[in-house]
Amino acid sequence: MKCDICGKDAATIIAMVNMATKDAQHVCDDCLIDNTPQINDITELDKNIDIVQSTLKDMEELQKLLSENKEGGKENEETGPGSDSDMFFTSENAYKMVKKTCDNLAIQKLQLLTSMPEPDRLKYELKVAIDTENYEKAAELRDKINALNSNES
Ligand SMILES: [Zn+2]
Repeated sequence: MKCDICGKDAATIIAMVNMATKDAQHVCDDCLIDNTPQINDITELDKNIDIVQSTLKDMEELQKLLSENKEGGKENEETGPGSDSDMFFTSENAYKMVKKTCDNLAIQKLQLLTSMPEPDRLKYELKVAIDTENYEKAAELRDKINALNSNES
């Protein structure tokens, strides 16, 4: 199967599926790592992390299913690139690639958070606290934000 980005016939191709449009883009491992998008919007970054994490979870479940099917049967090493089943990340390599993307995004998030101006970071943390129903933390953060605001005026 060919990579949609560089056009190379690569050994490992991963299908990146856009959950909204269901469009799949086939990407080789080199391109996947190069194209881990640099995202400077924390909300966008979170969305991407969600997508990658749910992909990881799907892959783990698929892997489990596959290994259950394998039990007692012969090793299915023939399922190489190009077969239908590898369209969706059956290989261990593909899993590692997604895991790496996930790690990359997590690092980006950390960097973004530390580089954010404090009021923005606090607002973001407030949103997360509310989303995760951590109301005690939310109240604490709201106080901090109010304190910052009153200092400015
Ligand atoms: Zn490529």
